[in-house]
Amino acid sequence: PSSAKCTRCRQRAVIALPSHHANFCEACFVFFFRRAVLRAMKKFPLKAQDPILVAVSGGKDSLTVWSVLQDLGYSTKGIHLNLGIPSFSEASHEAIAAFARQRQLPWTSYTLKDLIGYSIEEIRQKTRRPICSVCGMIKRRLLNRMALQEGYRIIATGHNLDDEAGRLLGNLVRNRREYIDKHYPYLPSAHPRLPEKIKPLYRVSAHEIRTYCRVEGIQYVEGACPLSRGATSHMFKEALNMLERKMPGTKRDFLFAYIEARSAPKPVDDFGTCDRCGEPCYGTRCSVCTLLERLQNPPRKQS
Ligand code: SF4
Ligand code: ZN
Repeated sequence: PSSAKCTRCRQRAVIALPSHHANFCEACFVFFFRRAVLRAMKKFPLKAQDPILVAVSGGKDSLTVWSVLQDLGYSTKGIHLNLGIPSFSEASHEAIAAFARQRQLPWTSYTLKDLIGYSIEEIRQKTRRPICSVCGMIKRRLLNRMALQEGYRIIATGHNLDDEAGRLLGNLVRNRREYIDKHYPYLPSAHPRLPEKIKPLYRVSAHEIRTYCRVEGIQYVEGACPLSRGATSHMFKEALNMLERKMPGTKRDFLFAYIEARSAPKPVDDFGTCDRCGEPCYGTRCSVCTLLERLQNPPRKQS
């Protein structure tokens, strides 16, 4: 809007945010964005000097959360899991390397194939389960392990307002109580070997993050993972986007009202130990080891 004035400083605005009924110049937008992240961080029971391990994929969300936490003065380190998805994983790695080099941020990268013997591409060819649910499980469990190895107690991920609101809607529609109970931007540690999890971007939308990347010159991997096609979570996000267009602010109202009305989930402490790898898990065998056993000894076809 060329004639609009910045809501904060009254200079010429270049960014319109209808969901906030606001217009911003670039400098005030950056201020607004960082303040939203700071507000999220204040909701989490952390100490200001706690070092944070940031799970980075090379996409807009993870590079942004890393960049903002650093700018807000937190001590951060990036961690990347190379999943072995042809061409996509190479592009991801390069985007992270360039970003970290430019800003002189420390990071480490692990390769799934080295850690468990299979890439996501190989797992996809060997299993009939939806690959994203297998991949999500692997990422969660291995990141926990890597955090411990790296000596970090806190993992930050790039989940944004759209992700969180979409997932909440999906879980409510299907009444998935066990997921709804854990639906919160902060997860306490449930075991001495498990880190706390935070989602510092839960108050900012995908659109706001893209704008932030443009203004701050953050170069991220553009395309979606080639294996992500057809995820139903997209539908819930689209539904919310439709409501958002008709009633700006709905997405935030929906997620924030839910979060404000509850408290952080309690840590569940009925953990066992995996009898194969020794990691904490429900029962006696962790889901990674269960998967690996299946891959090594595929169940015989029933006749
Ligand atoms: Fe893994 Fe699916 Fe995400 Fe690709 S889209 S990285 S397969 S969870
Ligand atoms: Zn195990």
